[in-house]
Amino acid sequence: MTEATYAPDREVVEICRDMIRIDTSNYGPERGPGERAAAEHVAALLDEVGIASELFESEPGRTSVVARWEPAGVDPDVAPLLVHGHLDVVPANADDWAVPPFSGEIKDGCVWGRGAVDMKDFNAMVLSVVRARAVAGVAPRRPIRLVFTADEEAGSTKGAQWLVDHHPETVRDCTEAIGEVGGFSLTVKDDLRLYLVQTAEKGLAWLNLIADGTAGHGSMRNADNAVTELAGAVARIGSYAWPHRITEAQRAFLEAVSDAFEIELDPDEAEQTLTRLGSIARMVGATMSNTANPTMLSAGYKHNVIPGRATAAIDGRFVPGGEEEFFATISQLIGDKVRYEVVSRQPSVETQFSGALVEAMQSCLLAEDPSARAVPYLMSGGTDAKAWDRLGVRCFGFAPLRLPADLDFVGMFHGVDERVPTDALEFGARVLDRFLAVA
Ligand SMILES: [Zn+2]
Repeated sequence: MTEATYAPDREVVEICRDMIRIDTSNYGPERGPGERAAAEHVAALLDEVGIASELFESEPGRTSVVARWEPAGVDPDVAPLLVHGHLDVVPANADDWAVPPFSGEIKDGCVWGRGAVDMKDFNAMVLSVVRARAVAGVAPRRPIRLVFTADEEAGSTKGAQWLVDHHPETVRDCTEAIGEVGGFSLTVKDDLRLYLVQTAEKGLAWLNLIADGTAGHGSMRNADNAVTELAGAVARIGSYAWPHRITEAQRAFLEAVSDAFEIELDPDEAEQTLTRLGSIARMVGATMSNTANPTMLSAGYKHNVIPGRATAAIDGRFVPGGEEEFFATISQLIGDKVRYEVVSRQPSVETQFSGALVEAMQSCLLAEDPSARAVPYLMSGGTDAKAWDRLGVRCFGFAPLRLPADLDFVGMFHGVDERVPTDALEFGARVLDRFLAVA
């Protein structure tokens, strides 16, 4: 790479396209391509500018990359900043797409492809900025720990969670982190854009409901029918109106939205406030309360045989501080004849929207977009942050993107025709570059 002038955003679009072209579809427990090729690509891009990295594999092909970037000029007395992105993507059905999902095509000013917003965009920003700085000898303020993980889309078991369990030394000395899902803009009006910085995420409780009853002939009376008991429990859970539990991040977000749209915030009418947000309400609406959705049902094998057991799956999510209430409510709703077992339980994560790092986000956004206002928000899903949080790292979703007002950005996540504007990528790289100088 020969560089005449320092341009941290120069390579971001091409790196993003190249990364999309490496298919890293994550099919969960089924076999997929894995992340090895993508990890080697990242390692080569870093190696080319003199940054050594290490590959870690939880199993063959499920590869994460860790690099310690501590060039001359960093302040060695400040703890490293963890900058992380996952390499895997959810699968894409090519028939549904307007362009082949792993082509990295540019069309209508956007890079199209699986991973364009989740999250090869941010990986590309990080690599573009770090490479430009390394070549030009422009040090970040503090040491940077770069971590690109496997398996985020299947719960991070073979990526971030595995790293924390087996190689905690790769991350343990970091105190703060930036990664997905946040930093994108929400246009309020021409001279005001909210940039949503993720400061919290809900916890997860995947449950199996189990009803045991008395098996028997379907033609006879049966007061102990497992299907009937289970169906009642599922219906009660599915139709339960969980009370609003407004967390600190959610309150701050709603206040910022009320202020931006110049509407009165009435906590009892918070749903009203949300409707002003358009498509983003789908994501943010779920963060007003705990949720529990029935997702699978199973019982029986023949029309005239009452089975002895019936089961159902529940996807439960609880707000920070809401875990105890979640499980107590589930116990009440299922009644005496149904029990539950926990298939997967992951804690919620929450940090404060304050301090030097947050001020750096705000000032760097403002430097590139004079209409920017950073606001915290609580995300309904989970990310690798759940793993880093176990080591006490403060995690922020901050992958800056200045987006056009009419783009259904939330719909892009795991969606058909996932795409990101090229100028948003370049914007993000410039903000990130400023951020590394001061963070
Ligand atoms: Zn993601």
